[in-house]
Amino acid sequence: MYGQETIVPTMCASHCGGACLLKVHVKDGVITRIETDDGEEPQLRACLRGRAYRQRVHSPDRLKYPMKRVGARGEGKFERISWDEALDKVAVELKRVRDTYGPGSIALARMVGDAHSLHTMGPISRLLGLAGGHVVMWGITSFHAGVYASLVSYGTFFASNTRDDLLNSKLIIMWGWDPATVINGTNTCWFLAQAKESGTRIVSVDPRYTDTAATFADLWIPIRPGTDTAMLIAMAYVMIKENLQDQRFLDTYTIGFNQFRDYVLGAEDGIPKTPAWAEAITGVPAATIEKLAWEYATIDPAALMAGIAAGRSAGGEQYHRAAIALAAMTGNVGIHGGDAAARAWESIMGGYPYRVRPMLAGVDENVNPLAQGIPSKKKVPLGYRENSIHYTKLADAILKGKAGGYPSDIKLLYVGGCNYLTQFPNINKIVRALQSLEFIAVQEQFMTPTTKYADILLPVCTYMERNDIAFGVGTAFIGAVNKVIDPLGESKSPLQVAVELAKRMGIENFMDKTEEEFLEDLAKRSGVPNYAEFKKEGVYKFKLPEPHVAFKEQIKDPANIPFRTPSGKIELYSQAWAEMNTPGLAPIPKYVEHWEGRSDPLARKYPLQLINTHFKRRALSQFDNIPWLRELMPQAIWINSKDALARGIRDGEMVRVFNDRGEMIIQAKVTERIMPGVVDVPHGAWYDPDEKGVDRGGCVNVLTSDTYSPGGSFTYNTGLVEVARA
Ligand code: SF4
Repeated sequence: MYGQETIVPTMCASHCGGACLLKVHVKDGVITRIETDDGEEPQLRACLRGRAYRQRVHSPDRLKYPMKRVGARGEGKFERISWDEALDKVAVELKRVRDTYGPGSIALARMVGDAHSLHTMGPISRLLGLAGGHVVMWGITSFHAGVYASLVSYGTFFASNTRDDLLNSKLIIMWGWDPATVINGTNTCWFLAQAKESGTRIVSVDPRYTDTAATFADLWIPIRPGTDTAMLIAMAYVMIKENLQDQRFLDTYTIGFNQFRDYVLGAEDGIPKTPAWAEAITGVPAATIEKLAWEYATIDPAALMAGIAAGRSAGGEQYHRAAIALAAMTGNVGIHGGDAAARAWESIMGGYPYRVRPMLAGVDENVNPLAQGIPSKKKVPLGYRENSIHYTKLADAILKGKAGGYPSDIKLLYVGGCNYLTQFPNINKIVRALQSLEFIAVQEQFMTPTTKYADILLPVCTYMERNDIAFGVGTAFIGAVNKVIDPLGESKSPLQVAVELAKRMGIENFMDKTEEEFLEDLAKRSGVPNYAEFKKEGVYKFKLPEPHVAFKEQIKDPANIPFRTPSGKIELYSQAWAEMNTPGLAPIPKYVEHWEGRSDPLARKYPLQLINTHFKRRALSQFDNIPWLRELMPQAIWINSKDALARGIRDGEMVRVFNDRGEMIIQAKVTERIMPGVVDVPHGAWYDPDEKGVDRGGCVNVLTSDTYSPGGSFTYNTGLVEVARA
């Protein structure tokens, strides 16, 4: 009502690893203030990004009108046009490319954007499918290795406990896990704080002394990137040698321990995987490895929280497989206070006792004719598929097409929910690929680096300008994303864009429900008892009698409730992987020396290992342009003082970071909080090249490789660089 302030509850879920309740104050169509959950526990309290969201909604940089490009691609020169003109042009181009080159010439570059159910890129994917198809892409950006390893080992990726179960742990090992930054469940740090207060021992294994480690850990163990598997296997060695493993658990619930033991002890290859062996690889002292192995095997129960960052590497699958093997060896699977160690990120798909699957399904995308009948070349879901393109290879596929062994020659790219020219590896190759396309449509809220390459720009609204549903992360709840204000300017919701395009493409069966019908139905199918109340509160919190523990049923009743693997047991040895016979995917967890590690000859030229961690003031690349948040911390490369001294670099100076793939100029943060030999450029800063093509925005992906791991993981944390004074 005009002149009156109202407070609208809504749910932020900015693909940050959390989902939080916001109470948004609105007056005359303007957001004036944002508060957060102060109701019943568990409270879902917002972080700095959610609380700063009004600056994002009302940013002068918001794209409010459709535009067409009038300058060169990448130049950022656009001219306002009408929605009719924009949508007509996109529809005409989609039809032209489909009819001229075939549907495989159309590719969709998508990510999650907001972690919602309806206004995702699902509707556009459905539209393209119904319109004849689009080239099939595969690979999960954040955690492919973790999901794949979970499927192989447990037969499911629903493998997580609710976060409140951390209160039952006596030991928490945070392996590459930094929830103070990556959230990993809105309340994760709250539970860590309570666990610490009650005396739980907390250990961090990480190349960086993270904020989570600084706040909660009793011990920080720095480890070289890409060597986690070696340390985990050496811990297994200690347990076997000292007979610390839970043999009853292994005999009852697993297969393959004997083969794993033979490898660990060296019976298979003549190399015992001793702590000394691992020290040379990992940089972690043998005594430290031995002590942690003892602790994990003897402190009961213990949760090994296997973060997904270490899985985003050249050997990522085996890291997750090794973590799972240790969880089984210590009998920590399926019990309160333990953890299946599958991947510590999950929880939206954590297999909780509420019906999350309908929400994950969203609109029906299973309509792409090009995806029908593609044989899964591997026996395990998520493995390599024929006639498809891994997401890391999209730019390569655009540049090389069929002649390069890809399934089609891509001519048109539709981008949405995705800052492709910042978030994907090997940016300089992506730039060349984008220049070569016949047509690019981008739907966005801001003039991102990717948007500058659009031929037609379709402005979409923020989640505060539409309705949706978000789901619980780490805690069992469902969030009502309530529209707070009308869409600004002429911006439309992602669903509206797809519906309008569908009309122009002659598709009549696009949606059989209105937005509201869809959301109400979804909420009810997901277990929300009263939709009106849910909308009014902005959240429905499920009351669980006790913390949810993955695989509790299988552990309690193994005779009747098998694991969903081919053998019905936790597969430490995977027959499916054995039959695939893929280098790097050994059927038991094994450490394999990978490319661009410390032993790679390339390390003589580029001696520093590059990792890219998440950054508090961004959620991936979202929020990078929000002034309040930019004030908080500068984008900077973390470099150890030893490495800085050797290069004459002082804290705060500008430095060059480079390898054969690219170069950037960025501020140096000289710190003891990262181990020597490793540098970190926080992920998600927008690509901003100067006239020589040198990035000035701090976009780490000018340096990363577009190579994926044997199982399909992105390899963001595998790479070598050199740093020098600018
Ligand atoms: S950005 Fe993430 S953690 Fe922050 S308020 Fe939004 S959902 Fe919560």
